[in-house]
Amino acid sequence: MKRVENKVALVTSSTRGIGLAIAKTLAKEGARVYLAVRRMDAGQEVADEIIAEGGFAKPVYFDASNVETHTTMIEDVIEAEGRIDILVNNYGATDVKRDFDLVNGDTEAFFSIVNQNLESVYLPCKAAVPHMIENGGGSIVNISTIGSVNPDLGRIAYVVSKAAINALTQNIAVQYAKQGVRCNAVLPGLIATDAALNNMSDEFLEHFLRHVPLDRTGFPQDIANAVLFYASDESSYITGTLQEVAGGFGMPSPIYGDAVKK
Ligand code: NAP
Repeated sequence: MKRVENKVALVTSSTRGIGLAIAKTLAKEGARVYLAVRRMDAGQEVADEIIAEGGFAKPVYFDASNVETHTTMIEDVIEAEGRIDILVNNYGATDVKRDFDLVNGDTEAFFSIVNQNLESVYLPCKAAVPHMIENGGGSIVNISTIGSVNPDLGRIAYVVSKAAINALTQNIAVQYAKQGVRCNAVLPGLIATDAALNNMSDEFLEHFLRHVPLDRTGFPQDIANAVLFYASDESSYITGTLQEVAGGFGMPSPIYGDAVKK
């Protein structure tokens, strides 16, 4: 028996990076995976790959800048399958040209980023939870960031939005636990995806890794492995967890980085 055999799953933003790894991993473990994407042609290509490997996948339309699609993507899955067992809210972004520290960051961008990231979790959960309850339960996994629990010098909108997603995760966990709906968050550290690698210098990377005891960037598969566990019944007694998958970043003494890689 595969680990999420015949469960119906939706993964947002699954054309690339972490979302793609999650979708492929869930499909490999037997889930019927709906790829919630803004580029339907790219979503179909991913679906074709998954199908060629013996899995099931289908794209549904989701564009985080089009608020209605946060709900319609869930309705599309319900129409096709009559249920949704696993919801992975992977979408999340910032504006690297406008999201800095409090004083230098753009105020309008702050509220727009916080709103967009938060609604990309709030609205799909709001649409999916009643269906999960009707079907006896389900598992929600929200993709946050290690930055949500380690304050930093910049990207204030992004990390505040993710900290709010952590709080949303734990409130949903408490509010619907009795109806069998679990809700956990995965907090990635620095993961080698387009989003991360295109926006950082080698100098930053070297500096950052000084503070990662496991001494490497993460891979999308590292995140997908954790999501699979929280999505599956193997974690059936776990809810409201903020699971760091960050190579130990943030755990050692604050002077740890001074002592390594001289
Ligand atoms: P990524 O490789 O840049 O992929 C971004 C994904 O988001 C793509 O599938 C892209 O679709 C999609 N997307 C972009 N704008 C969208 C929109 N308006 N509507 C719907 N989908 C949209 O990103 P990633 O690094 O995998 O990040 C995934 C999640 O992990 C995010 O929540 C991020 O905050 C979190 N995270 C990442 C890291 C890291 O180091 N990478 C660390 C902590 C947390 P297209 O292919 O159509 O562009």
